[in-house]
Amino acid sequence: MKGIARCAGKAGPEKNDAQDQADAYERCVCCHRRVGILKDTDIEFRPFYVEGAGQLCYGCYHELYVRNAGV
Ligand SMILES: [Zn+2]
Repeated sequence: MKGIARCAGKAGPEKNDAQDQADAYERCVCCHRRVGILKDTDIEFRPFYVEGAGQLCYGCYHELYVRNAGV
């Protein structure tokens, strides 16, 4: 869990009214890219969801967890 702190620090409630169709989808808390996961998806069924941090995309999840874990 060490790599996530700096990443989650800049995450926050972010409302983007200009993109309502994108609004149905979660965004990565790290890079803010849209992930293909609907917001009403239960967190238990979400890939790359980290409790205490939030939703990550594939790339950030691997960067923060898989790569760090391998070192
Ligand atoms: Zn990301």
